[in-house]
Amino acid sequence: MLGKLTGFDDTIVAVATAPGLGAIAVIRLSGSNAYSICNGLFPARDLTLEASHTLHFGSIVAAGRVIDEVVVSLYKGPRSYTGEDVIEISCHGSPYIQQQIIDATIQAGARLAKPGEFTQRAFLNGKLDLTQAESVADLIASNSAASHQTAMQQMRGGFSKELHALREQLITFSALIELELDFSQEDVEFADRTGLYALITNATSVLQHLIDSFRMGNVIKNGVNTAIVGKPNAGKSTLLNTLLNENRAIVSEIAGTTRDTIEEILNIEGILFRLIDTAGIRESMDTIESIGVQKTMEKIKEAGVVVYLFDVNELTATDIRNQVAAFKTDNINHLLVGNKTDVTGEAAVRTKFADIPDILFISAKNHAHIQDLKDALVQKVMGGDINTEDTIITNARHYAALQEVLRSLQDVKQGMDNGLPGDLLSLDIRLCLHYLGEITGEVTNEDRLDYIFSKFCIGK
Ligand code: GDP
Repeated sequence: MLGKLTGFDDTIVAVATAPGLGAIAVIRLSGSNAYSICNGLFPARDLTLEASHTLHFGSIVAAGRVIDEVVVSLYKGPRSYTGEDVIEISCHGSPYIQQQIIDATIQAGARLAKPGEFTQRAFLNGKLDLTQAESVADLIASNSAASHQTAMQQMRGGFSKELHALREQLITFSALIELELDFSQEDVEFADRTGLYALITNATSVLQHLIDSFRMGNVIKNGVNTAIVGKPNAGKSTLLNTLLNENRAIVSEIAGTTRDTIEEILNIEGILFRLIDTAGIRESMDTIESIGVQKTMEKIKEAGVVVYLFDVNELTATDIRNQVAAFKTDNINHLLVGNKTDVTGEAAVRTKFADIPDILFISAKNHAHIQDLKDALVQKVMGGDINTEDTIITNARHYAALQEVLRSLQDVKQGMDNGLPGDLLSLDIRLCLHYLGEITGEVTNEDRLDYIFSKFCIGK
């Protein structure tokens, strides 16, 4: 395991609740002096004599002055979030009170926690593995039901379990191959090569599945840039309003939102569809030909999905065929949506466009088939049913590391194909194990840890 990090022995303190005004705030202390520090500020009773996992009401008194009436929760290590002694002080939510209590604990010997330091300690004390720790950050940042669920699933160790199983099997093989080396004179094979092939095949498919899930994971975590385009009067604003009425996401709560480029965000089945610069695109879509205009195309290409809306009464089947061809040339993930079916009725419209597959017919004004459009959008970006019970990779670091694991696993396979001697094969397996370990944190270094945990907010 790792050496202790700098400042690891300090008792750390931070406000664990959101900054600002609230009914209550929680101040969290973790470390070997948590009890003694808190005891000095809490005259009501001697906390060291109280059982773990109990609550105590009393005053926080510093320099002879009562700061607040609080409830103190005790978590004796190792049965705590960090694995150390943890005390949580629930005080009234005023920022002034919070600051006074923090100051008092610092006076008494605590130090302010760095971002993510509580979770970092939990990791270093073996309470969580690295993927679980990282998913704590995702969980806190999750802004939709789907991203919440994947983060939750990961925190419970879903992803790590799959990787641990793989790692265990590879370790066994590597051990057997190394055993062969000890008996090299005797020309024996302990490690069953067919078994190793089977393991590699199986592992490759597990890894590929995880790697593929990143696209989906990315969509779940970050949302997908969406453009609604079409000629003027196609009904874009009408459609947008209909969708927004039911599915507007709260923009201010979504991290990384640039108000300049993103107008609105829809939350459909927990997936965030970020509507990019639709106004700009709308203007330059005056004529269907102008879609060839470089700038517009660049904008459209930024989109993960493009909704092309047209007035079924105005455009001909040939117009649409040309449009589809243009999208195909530029490999644009698009959805064809024919609007205003109410004018002539849906049946007539279907006949008109009968030879063009995959057009969705709606009436934005009458709210007809809007649910079908939403389903189609989700289907387009997820490429199948969303099953957040499955393990989904949402973290770029895991994605990169998994690709390394896969690459090194292919090297092992190639080595076996070429009849590589056991010692070299064993090296390849070790490399593969190394990359696997990097994901779960069994192999790591201080810099990388600091980097990962620095992305947390303070108090976690
Ligand atoms: P935009 O220029 O693409 O944003 O189009 P608008 O949303 O402003 O709509 C242009 C006109 O078409 C407005 O008068 C809308 O009321 C009308 N419109 C939009 N959707 C429908 C529809 O489903 N049926 C009918 N009959 N009219 C619609």
